[in-house]
Amino acid sequence: MVCGAALEYSEKEITLECSYCNKELKGNIKCPNGHYVCDDCHNHQSLQLAKEICSATASTDPADIFEKIITSSKIPMLGCHHAFMAAGAFITAIRNEGSLSVSEEMITEIYDRTQRQAIGGYCGLTGLCGIAPALGACFAVILGSKCGMDKEQKLTMTAVSEIVTVITELTGPSCCKAYARKSIEVAQIFLEKNLRIRLSKSTEKIVCSHSKNHPHGCREAKCPYYE
Ligand SMILES: [Zn+2]
Ligand SMILES: [Zn+2]
Repeated sequence: MVCGAALEYSEKEITLECSYCNKELKGNIKCPNGHYVCDDCHNHQSLQLAKEICSATASTDPADIFEKIITSSKIPMLGCHHAFMAAGAFITAIRNEGSLSVSEEMITEIYDRTQRQAIGGYCGLTGLCGIAPALGACFAVILGSKCGMDKEQKLTMTAVSEIVTVITELTGPSCCKAYARKSIEVAQIFLEKNLRIRLSKSTEKIVCSHSKNHPHGCREAKCPYYE
């Protein structure tokens, strides 16, 4: 993001200084030239763009909203901004569908919860990709789920476990874009089955145009979105 060099992922956390905001933080991802970008700075531009596109659209198709956001050249190829963009697209489609009343406050709450659990590189470090809790936050907020609740918490956790399963099936190596696309699809089916809210879905197949930009190598034929 700073000099364009391929990033290095370390197993052990090291103290690094963010090249943008100069804050000293612990992290696992840096470039060979010593550049490090903290999660806040890394995701800031994508989050702003996601918020702008989401507040302006009347679409009820979450996949379509997500594709619109990631088309921008400002969006880095990999990273936890995908969690914010997936959650933004999903909750926006729910808001636009109209069966539930979704306030700005609820959307902000979803982004705040996502920020706590979408941490760069942690898909490999703890096994949890931030897109799962981001979409989980959408379900939790619309269901009013909190720790200690009965059906609401169970439904939220079931949705997240289904999302984690499909993300796992798409791994080897990882791709945030494929993860987000499949997770949105699963969340949409779950929403219809369990909450009887039907969002739109294009019959056109999603074809990825980012294959050549993947720093770890695109999975190509193993990916359902490969041309
Ligand atoms: Zn660099
Ligand atoms: Zn920073």
